Amino acid sequence: DTIGANLDRTAARFGDRDALVERATGRRWTYREFVADVDALALGLLDAGIGKGDRVGIWAPNRAEWTLVQYATARIGAILVNINPAYRVHELEYVLNQAGIRMLVSAQRFKSSDYVDMVEQVRPNCPALERVVFLDRPEWTELARGSGDQARLDEAQAALSADDPINIQYTSGTTGFPKGATLSHHNILNNGFFVGELCGYTERDRVCIPVPFYHCFGMVMGNLACTSHGAAMVIPGEGFEPKAALAAVATERCTSLYGVPTMFIAELDLPDFAEYDLSSLRTGIMAGSPCPVEVMKQVIDRMGMAEVAICYGMTETSPVSTQTRADDSVERRVSTVGRVGPHLEVKVVDPETGRPVPRGTPGELCTRGYSVMLGYWQQPDKTAEVIDEARWMHTGDLAVMDPDGYVSITGRIKDMVIRGGENIYPREIEEFLYTHPDILDAQVIGVPDERFGEELMAWVRLRDGAPELTTEALREFCTGKLAHYKIPRYVHVVDEFPMTVTGKIRKVEMRRAAKRILG
Ligand code: ATP
Ligand code: MG
Repeated sequence: DTIGANLDRTAARFGDRDALVERATGRRWTYREFVADVDALALGLLDAGIGKGDRVGIWAPNRAEWTLVQYATARIGAILVNINPAYRVHELEYVLNQAGIRMLVSAQRFKSSDYVDMVEQVRPNCPALERVVFLDRPEWTELARGSGDQARLDEAQAALSADDPINIQYTSGTTGFPKGATLSHHNILNNGFFVGELCGYTERDRVCIPVPFYHCFGMVMGNLACTSHGAAMVIPGEGFEPKAALAAVATERCTSLYGVPTMFIAELDLPDFAEYDLSSLRTGIMAGSPCPVEVMKQVIDRMGMAEVAICYGMTETSPVSTQTRADDSVERRVSTVGRVGPHLEVKVVDPETGRPVPRGTPGELCTRGYSVMLGYWQQPDKTAEVIDEARWMHTGDLAVMDPDGYVSITGRIKDMVIRGGENIYPREIEEFLYTHPDILDAQVIGVPDERFGEELMAWVRLRDGAPELTTEALREFCTGKLAHYKIPRYVHVVDEFPMTVTGKIRKVEMRRAAKRILG
């Protein structure tokens, strides 16, 4: 199915039910109203000369218009390019040119950033960019009120195939410059559908989505999971705000709430937490980074999300590959990322030989199935590095699969350190360092060493008021508890780690800095 055809099917069955609620403005759409607005915008795009295969960029925080653009472009087969709201001119210009964006739909501002100014700055350097439409201006109203014959839309939709590219999403850039994963209707619609299926969504569900739409967590696991099951999408605010998220759940009687672990922590920490009526919550999704056991227990007990799921995935796989199920134990929902999703395959291989390793042995996680992207946009060489002839996606993540098929992520291959022939997984050492009473956060990298090839370096953030921590003292702390080769040779105390705009730690940057520090 195409995304447009799927939306029509949902609207035909659940036309009177809520499709979209925007809390900041109080606007709401039933599925019938939503499809009408999607169609009006799709006609406006056709009138503007946008058609199948043209790239339309969207640069805006979570607003209803984001969702309308998502479905209107899919309706006519234009390729939506998600642009991260945290980008600045350098990244904006790169994406506009790399994807060859013809039309950009942009907010005028978000938080304290002036998008109009940034767009004007890069515009002269973006020859493919023909038109910019700013939200809340007459040009947007005109575009969104396209008119004309419904037959033109039917014609446009009939010319589409589910395997056409429909979306370019840039990876987070944790390990290098972001790459544009090109995804089809089939890729993301199926992924949204199965994520929703495993959450048990029906037209009675109402999903609170405080995670960004520009990311697959919002637009696929959020929006597409809802529209493919007739559930309602609830937008608590333009950006994440813990009070707004809980208020949205309470007022809209949401049954599901999304977030990365830090979002749930912020919500649970609210002084007036007890005043929000969260009794409607049943499930939700936590993804993006590992969840501490204590947080998971509180999400289940204090928020009532008995069925909350953990997902693992990557932009290149639409995104979800593995997911925990409602009946998995709490331990499994914190120590693993669940089992493979429907119609997908996963295997763990030796990164050198490519052969599957025995259960319980770490190796590179590979995934295969409908979810694997078409390729990196106009980067066939890069695509060939990650997708092999048998269509297996090599994730670059290290994982262990237990005898029951539950997968645990142990780190990234690029972060693995080989010291004197021993493979060392930084994650294991980081987790040990967290047990030090003065350490708030720890990150471990490999640095070049003449004798051993690589040596370990720990970067640590100390708790407020903690005394100075010397290399000797930390090594002393590790002695007898970690094998000698896993004890960091160097210790570097910092106030913060280099981060990507999506909040992931950039070890590439740390390794570069380490070379300078060590001379
Ligand atoms: P880039 O590919 O540009 O270096 P990135 O890989 O961080 O950036 P994303 O596609 O946004 O970009 O993130 C996918 C990665 O996030 C996965 O490959 C994995 O390393 C990590 N990840 C995702 N979900 C989980 C999870 N539940 N637990 C641990 N790690 C996860
Ligand atoms: Mg990646």
